Amino acid sequence: MISPVNHEVIPLVDLKAQSRAIKRDVLRRMEAVIDDARYILGKEVTEFEEQFAQYCGTNHCIGMANGTEAIHMALRALEIGPGDEVITAGNSFAATAFAIAYAGAEAVFVDIDPADFNIDTTLIEAAITDKTKAIIPVHLFGQPARMNEIMEIGRRHGLKVVEDAAQAHGAELDGQRCGSFGDIGCFSFYPGKNLGAFGDGGAVVTNDPELAERLRLLRNYGQKQKNRHDTLGFNCRLDTLQACVLLSKMQHIEGWTEQRRQVAQWYREELDGTNFELPQAHDDSRHVYHLFVVRTKQRERLMSALADQNIHTGIHYPNPLSTAGSFANSPTIPMGLPVCTEVASEIVSLPMYPEMTREQVERVCLAVRQIVEQEELVG
Ligand SMILES: *Cc1c(COP(=O)(O)O)cnc(C)c1O
Repeated sequence: MISPVNHEVIPLVDLKAQSRAIKRDVLRRMEAVIDDARYILGKEVTEFEEQFAQYCGTNHCIGMANGTEAIHMALRALEIGPGDEVITAGNSFAATAFAIAYAGAEAVFVDIDPADFNIDTTLIEAAITDKTKAIIPVHLFGQPARMNEIMEIGRRHGLKVVEDAAQAHGAELDGQRCGSFGDIGCFSFYPGKNLGAFGDGGAVVTNDPELAERLRLLRNYGQKQKNRHDTLGFNCRLDTLQACVLLSKMQHIEGWTEQRRQVAQWYREELDGTNFELPQAHDDSRHVYHLFVVRTKQRERLMSALADQNIHTGIHYPNPLSTAGSFANSPTIPMGLPVCTEVASEIVSLPMYPEMTREQVERVCLAVRQIVEQEELVG
């Protein structure tokens, strides 16, 4: 039976719901900062860095201005730059590749495994040249990349590993948190991320005390003491007011992550038995569902049918990075990106946020099933 059309909007991401839960606590913390006028590298930044390092299971966390700069600073700290090549997945958000370019290095894109949308580890070695210095696996959509294989390839070829964990706060592989496998792990706190500020924010985590020290200098004009600039530094500090938001949200992140996993489970139950392709999650991993991305050859029809019912969807991301104009001259590997290209034309992100109710998931799935069933009748 088809239920009456319900026109209440189901957004792709609902940031307002989260803000309601923490608003008072955030304002209380912000008021203390404002009263003391400690806007730059205030004690809330340090407090957050301590909490986030512990959350990731690493010794150090250094707050950054955003996730893109986190990756850029990580490459600078590892002294990767002009003449060097950095391998990454061909289907990431453009920022991963931009950060490589900011460091002056060349991005080399490797194809993905269609099962989990992460870098295909069997293709990495073919992309390594004598210029390769690092691999940046991306834990896309909140699913850990195959870090054991990637770390092994890194060791075998003497390459650094920088994790792009911008979508994977709290994700785990064999009980170990994303960001803690490689030399440096990079996070974004863009508002829509699983842990998001009220503006831009980011961080790097590492176990290496020397890298941590270098990263602290890099983010703050290279200053060990005021007006001593021993290295080329940048201004990419995490803002104290944003640290207030992150401290408040740290108290909820585990609950919110479990709610995301529950929403994913509801989707699976509701779409079970259709021939619809759902995201696969590895048994050894904790997928944190930054996005719930499904695959269908009927994407345009599905998106417009959902839009007609006020259900918002997205595409993450519509084009492989190698097709972005700014990377047209990047070194290409012989096998190209056939999987990235095919997947990019078939993926669609369904609404996913911790506060999503079972009723909302049912409404989305009812609309999805109607399309799938019509398809089966026609096809
Ligand atoms: C969001 C994101 C970034 C960039 O983070 P910003 O904070 O927006 O600069 C990098 N990589 C991935 C995979 C992302 O999702």
